[in-house]
Amino acid sequence: SCKEQHYRSAIYTPSLNKYSVMRLNLMSELKEALHDGQLHLYYQPKLAFQENAITTVECLIRWIHPEHGFVSPDEFIPLAEQTGAIRNVTNWALDVACNQLNSWQSQGIQLGVAVNISAMDLVDMRLPSYIAELLVRYKLTPNLLTLEVTESAVMSNPENALKALNVLKSMGITLSIDDFGTGYSSMAQLKKMPVHELKIDKAFVLDLASNKEDQVMVKTLISLAANLGLKTVAEGVEDIESLKLLNAFGCTKAQGFYLSKALPADQFNQWYETFNQ
Ligand code: C2E
Ligand code: CA
Ligand code: CA
Ligand code: CA
Repeated sequence: SCKEQHYRSAIYTPSLNKYSVMRLNLMSELKEALHDGQLHLYYQPKLAFQENAITTVECLIRWIHPEHGFVSPDEFIPLAEQTGAIRNVTNWALDVACNQLNSWQSQGIQLGVAVNISAMDLVDMRLPSYIAELLVRYKLTPNLLTLEVTESAVMSNPENALKALNVLKSMGITLSIDDFGTGYSSMAQLKKMPVHELKIDKAFVLDLASNKEDQVMVKTLISLAANLGLKTVAEGVEDIESLKLLNAFGCTKAQGFYLSKALPADQFNQWYETFNQ
């Protein structure tokens, strides 16, 4: 009955409110975090099989909150996407990544960076000119910058997303479809996507060594991509058996804890030096 519903909501409302207040606080704190240096960009290497070298790093955001400690990006990125705060986060990440790239360039370290871009960023008309500014400011060639865009971000607004991807591609930026295999794009849509690379979601990769179905999936995705002229990156590589399988399947790059987790720049530099010895 109506009365009963009322009674129920009276019981449940306080905890719901507590949750939304927490979310609101988190979002107002995110604004501060951007200015107070609580956000950090960490770098996770990608191994290129043919070169047998680390050629790119994925930039992954870390929020170290003064009271709550570590806040996972899986928690605050979706919130920032809902509130529109993502634009400032993305611009911040692009700036830090390009600055880091400039620093590596001046040290003679040949690396590219991959930055994650949300659906809302992709259809923001100001993104291409902002990136163009950064490339000039940090004296970078555009191909050193990869943008990782999720399959679902493209599919949420395919027409505008394709327009944006075409503009970014014509600027010489490298484009990658993230979390590939978890969305619902058809073959026809995939063929139309102006991208260079597919990132195979870690859901298919984590148990690759032991799971025969995953092996079939990943092998098929890699040859599909290759037949469309696309490179492939497998994320979530946690053991050497999976790394060897991916190499045998003709995968272009591997990323995962077997190589390294995402590290702050100074620790990444040490890891990279040791790897190259
Ligand atoms: P993603 O783009 O799919 O990033 C890959 C995630 O997998 C990262 O989690 C990474 O740490 C994790 N990972 C890498 N290798 C392994 C592995 O071998 N095993 C396992 N189990 N996990 C692995 P992280 O850093 O927590 O990021 C989570 C998500 O947050 C990212 O997923 C991305 O969607 C989002 N995100 C992170 N940074 C940014 C950013 O700067 N901008 C935007 N828009 N989103 C970001
Ligand atoms: Ca990514
Ligand atoms: Ca991914
Ligand atoms: Ca993901």
